[in-house]
Amino acid sequence: MENILVIVHTEPNGSLAKPALEAVAVAKTLGSFSVGLIGADTQKAANQIAGCGAAKFLAVTGAEFSQPRYATDAAAAEAIAKAAAATIVIVPHTSRWGRVAAGVAARLGGRADTHVTGVTATGITRWYYRQRMEAQMTRTQRPWVIALDPGCVAPWTGAAGTAATTPVAVTATSRTQVTGIKAPEASQQTIRPDAKLLFVAGAGWTKKQADGATHVPEAAEIILGFLNASKASLGSSKSLVDLSGEGQAVLPFMSHLNQIGQTGSTPRHPKGLSTCCHGEEPHTVGWRFINERRAISLDPNCGWARGKADVLYVADAFAVMRKVNALLAGK
Ligand SMILES: Cc1cc2nc3c(=O)[nH]c(=O)nc-3n(C[C@H](O)[C@H](O)[C@H](O)COP(=O)(O)OP(=O)(O)OC[C@H]3O[C@@H](n4cnc5c(N)ncnc54)[C@H](O)[C@@H]3O)c2cc1C
Repeated sequence: MENILVIVHTEPNGSLAKPALEAVAVAKTLGSFSVGLIGADTQKAANQIAGCGAAKFLAVTGAEFSQPRYATDAAAAEAIAKAAAATIVIVPHTSRWGRVAAGVAARLGGRADTHVTGVTATGITRWYYRQRMEAQMTRTQRPWVIALDPGCVAPWTGAAGTAATTPVAVTATSRTQVTGIKAPEASQQTIRPDAKLLFVAGAGWTKKQADGATHVPEAAEIILGFLNASKASLGSSKSLVDLSGEGQAVLPFMSHLNQIGQTGSTPRHPKGLSTCCHGEEPHTVGWRFINERRAISLDPNCGWARGKADVLYVADAFAVMRKVNALLAGK
């Protein structure tokens, strides 16, 4: 029988974030499980999931464990896994856990699998070859550290309560000190994995328009206006993000991180709206997990028209999005 353990860390306010609750939800489907908590103060998080059905709450608590650092995170996770005699260790595949999952497995003499999309009693699922092939896998080695990609299952929800935690002692220090986080302001943060809508901008936004001129500053204003009003996530075609390398006028808030497609990302959003993009296969393959797809292109023969989109508006995206922004502003 497996000894199943979920290890999660607390947020700066002491709570557990959505990816942590998703890992708890997955563990719950597997049978009896324990939860390991890491953070400056773990009691609030334990209380948050008091009703999740965990057999035990093991906690590594201390100010030094609040920082996202390899040395302290790996030491804490190792100690909890040993204390629980875990054979299956589930962690959320956030950037923090992605950094330590393999190291923790090595310390425990086990194996790690990352970017896992599902866990069942018989094994895991994950995708290969840029999300084109789904593999079902099992492993004989234990402990098996499984990093679950965020957004693949519904997070655990339930009433808070009072949970009894078992402290796990760890002595770990690090010369690395996290002194702060430098991140773009929320209004400039255009990649929003939890957004309901993916808004894709293609190279057409920077091309000459009907009047024979380009209108890049206006394109930037329209796109940012829509993103701010709708809180959609911003994606791009490869052509648009490659333009900067060619010395052409570009949208300043767009980088290769926004690129969707074969050589870009494959995000998961319920809906997608493509604008000024041709809808070629290497781009649309990144739309694999977008459930409802719409596109605005001047070209009635574009890829979207050939079965890639549910609805294609053959129209000028400048005009359509200006109108959409006006409607949103009126709301
Ligand atoms: C190995 C390989 C990997 C690749 N990987 C990727 C990838 O990961 N992601 C990716 O995106 N591409 C990828 N590509 C490139 C891909 O094949 C296309 O070249 C690219 O997606 C085209 O980008 P685009 O549609 O924005 O630009 P374009 O092909 O230039 O299309 C612009 C579109 O905008 C329309 N348009 C212009 N003005 C307006 C307007 N006012 N209103 C409405 N529509 C307008 C035009 O009609 C046109 O259809 C890859 C290619 C290769 C060979």
